[in-house]
Amino acid sequence: MKVFKFGGASVKDADAVKNVATIMQDFKEEKILVIVSAMGKTTNALEKVVDAYVKKSGEAELFLEEVKTFHYQIMESLFLDLNNPIFEKVNNYFVEIHWALEDEPREYNFIYDQIVSFGELISSSIVNAWLKESNLASTWLDIRDCLNADNTYREGKINWEESDQLVKKNLLPLFTTQNKIVLTQGYIASTSENYSITLGREGSDYTAAILAYLLDAESVTIWKDVPGVLNADPKYFTDAQKLEQLSYLDAIELAYYGASVIHPKTIKPLENKGIPLYVKSFLNHQAKGTVIGKDLQTKPLVPSFIFKSNQVLISIAAKDFSFIAEENISNIFATFATLGLKVNLMQNSAISFSVCLDNDSQKIPKLIELLQQNYRIRYNTDLQLYTIRHYYPSTLENLSQGREILLEQRSRNTAHLVMKAEEKSENK
Ligand code: ASP
Ligand code: MG
Repeated sequence: MKVFKFGGASVKDADAVKNVATIMQDFKEEKILVIVSAMGKTTNALEKVVDAYVKKSGEAELFLEEVKTFHYQIMESLFLDLNNPIFEKVNNYFVEIHWALEDEPREYNFIYDQIVSFGELISSSIVNAWLKESNLASTWLDIRDCLNADNTYREGKINWEESDQLVKKNLLPLFTTQNKIVLTQGYIASTSENYSITLGREGSDYTAAILAYLLDAESVTIWKDVPGVLNADPKYFTDAQKLEQLSYLDAIELAYYGASVIHPKTIKPLENKGIPLYVKSFLNHQAKGTVIGKDLQTKPLVPSFIFKSNQVLISIAAKDFSFIAEENISNIFATFATLGLKVNLMQNSAISFSVCLDNDSQKIPKLIELLQQNYRIRYNTDLQLYTIRHYYPSTLENLSQGREILLEQRSRNTAHLVMKAEEKSENK
């Protein structure tokens, strides 16, 4: 069995949904598990609904209406027969959201997941209905019956053993000789109390990897609006080139540092079972794309540039000139963990410790406040973190020309530079 993942951009309007069916026609003879994300920017739109609801701004229903109109326009252009059961199914989902908005708001993250998860339920229902309309026998599955997670709302952690059993019981039997396609949602799962939970933004890739792992799939294909994994973002680098293949190690390093083409959590389950990952273009579906897999060396071996903006660099120094190591470091890390902060880069000296983090507008001020109780803190905001995998010394020189470097770190394969944000666009 193969696993295909179609992200928001690949189902952003009626033509895009039709294109998914066109791609699926090419794989008619194979068993495919299809995972879809919410349509276009629906997750952001539902986030707006949640925010309005929690803040009681009075706009929640209005924002929800926009989400509804967007989906109805897609359905109306796909399905000429207004009696198609899809209309009722989608309408029921909107009624459920509407009901949720009538309750008194509870804890934000919990509410967020209960509402935002409808994006994937609606999207997958529409795409499935369209595949059926296109004579592709496809069975829709509610993935919440298969994937179980803990109660960490918005960042659910999968219960692997439980999910393994559920997948075997509720997913596998759906594949039959007649039914070669099973279509389900990415990004969402359920908790033991049967609430919806999401796995972190852009989490549909991760769902594809989890299911591929549990099902021992032959491969995973992520269908994107780019030709594959590129060595740089073409928005900033005019001569970005496509990588034909990548090692798991290069893929996880690039994804971790912000190569948005693959969600960083996707690689581990695949690497653990040696399952290849293809990144292909849904706009040119027969083209080769990029393959990431076991025993593959990255090819062509050119420098890859990853670039993360809105970084903050914090220097933490002991107030009494004592060494920063040992106790202090574990103390500092406990603070990061309490706030759920991920460190992008770190470096220490005798009495100080520097970390580069995403500048989260809620968590960073809190972090600084907590650290200031025990340490002397200095920080810079509005920074950019560049990660260059397979760099040459000259690559770094070109990149940093004329710019102030606040932190630099090099290992054999990877270099990191933290620099002040530049006004003009980079063109390297
Ligand atoms: N729809 C979700 C999001 O936008 C999940 C995904 O796209 O993978 O974050
Ligand atoms: Mg997405």
